Amino acid sequence: MNMQSHEGHLPADHRLSPHWQFSNLPLVGRMLTDYPINDLWETDFARLPRALAKQRRRARTFAEQHIMPAADELDLCAHLPAGQCHPTAHRIPCEAGKQGWLSYFMPAPLGSLPWSTVPHAPIWQCSLIVEQFSRACGGLMLLLSAHHLGGMPLLLSGSVNAMLRYLAPAYRSCERGEPHLIAFAITEPGAGSDVEEGHGAEVYRPGVVATPTDGGYLLNGRKCYISGGDLSKTATVFAALQGEGMESWTCFYVDCSDPGYKVARTELKMGMRASGAAEIELTNVFVPTDRIIGGLRKGWVLNRAALNASRIPVASTGVGFARAATETAVEFARHYKVGGRALIHYQDVQLHLATMVAETRAIRSLVWQEAKAAWRPRQLNASLCKFHATDRAQRVCEMAMDLLADHGGKHENRIEKIFRDVRLTRIFEGTNQINRLSMTKDWQAQLLDFNHSVGV
Ligand SMILES: Cc1cc2nc3c(=O)[nH]c(=O)nc-3n(C[C@H](O)[C@H](O)[C@H](O)COP(=O)(O)OP(=O)(O)OC[C@H]3O[C@@H](n4cnc5c(N)ncnc54)[C@H](O)[C@@H]3O)c2cc1C
Repeated sequence: MNMQSHEGHLPADHRLSPHWQFSNLPLVGRMLTDYPINDLWETDFARLPRALAKQRRRARTFAEQHIMPAADELDLCAHLPAGQCHPTAHRIPCEAGKQGWLSYFMPAPLGSLPWSTVPHAPIWQCSLIVEQFSRACGGLMLLLSAHHLGGMPLLLSGSVNAMLRYLAPAYRSCERGEPHLIAFAITEPGAGSDVEEGHGAEVYRPGVVATPTDGGYLLNGRKCYISGGDLSKTATVFAALQGEGMESWTCFYVDCSDPGYKVARTELKMGMRASGAAEIELTNVFVPTDRIIGGLRKGWVLNRAALNASRIPVASTGVGFARAATETAVEFARHYKVGGRALIHYQDVQLHLATMVAETRAIRSLVWQEAKAAWRPRQLNASLCKFHATDRAQRVCEMAMDLLADHGGKHENRIEKIFRDVRLTRIFEGTNQINRLSMTKDWQAQLLDFNHSVGV
């Protein structure tokens, strides 16, 4: 067997190989046809604007040095009762905070966003970072990223007061290595889709209610599945005003150490275990009026805007998982032998891997296309990007499982964890079914306008 080529392929230096031929063309011909054979994944990054490429490299280094080595420990450790935290789940946010990964939605000196990246949509930078983090560990990615979702209403309210008074101090604390995580709390025991997308919001009886009192409001009710809710110092909690429906939803910036705020439990979930999914019990939690974000009855719109902003980075986590699955499958195929030959020499295995690579790069292209333009992310684009990228990412992970066969079921081979993690991306931030409906909802004005044809 020729060691320079896979079975069924010619080596790069064979006279019939295009590469050999390109390199023997005259100078202009070479300039028009020849290309360096770089790392498959890095080729994409070479096309990024310089400032974003630098951030992406930093994120990869952080992910490989800090996130990857902690992934197994946090995935396999015993589920701790509410109030207890694994030391590593505490250590990683400290380190991440010091390196600026918890404060990059505002530029220095308020946050850690490098001024060189300011000309680019922040969602694009965020998408590049979460791809690197999810490639290393889905749970730790969620632990670090849910904090940005929690801070999103403070930013999107457009209130300078909210940014300077609440977000900037939280960021500074993170940068000192004392993580001030912010949770985002919309889901209620009786409602995920109804509060997230409003499919049943008109008839839904709100589960968290704010009652006016002297100088503020008292919050009562329950929120569930709140990522990082067990470790967060503050939370953006969405509640309806007493006696009113979902249209009165208001965003309250709640201090988690206030009396009446209790983490009732955390879920033992199938994947992303490094991030706690907390059920929060609110019993007469007093929130002063100046901690209302964006004004009374502005919660619904802040919720929508926050989800439009975050669904593109969620799509990018799919890219990270698909890439991790593909890398795992490629390594397996290079080393595992069947019938005396490494799997990679079988052409049906090559076809399988080629599809995985193509799917992964296709969803990355989709994410970058949307993220690049996401200064004011549109619901249609964000939802489409989220459901398609995460659906395809799971398909890629399944293909890796197919290839690894019984070896895929063993934890040590990594894909089993990726498989459990990627599945959750199709549930949170709206199930993928709901995201399809949400896309259509944003499209309906055009769909219902029979005077014009609908271009896609
Ligand atoms: C890992 C993880 C992290 C999360 N983190 C957070 C967080 O930080 N903060 C937070 O607030 N929430 C969080 N969530 C909650 C998440 O956003 C919800 O689980 C999600 O929105 C789905 O809601 P649900 O589970 O209540 O499903 P439901 O809304 O109860 O839906 C149940 C089923 O009904 C379908 N359905 C609902 N309405 C319709 C309709 N009108 N037409 C057709 N089908 C419909 C849904 O697609 C689904 O299949 C998290 C969830 C997970 C899994």
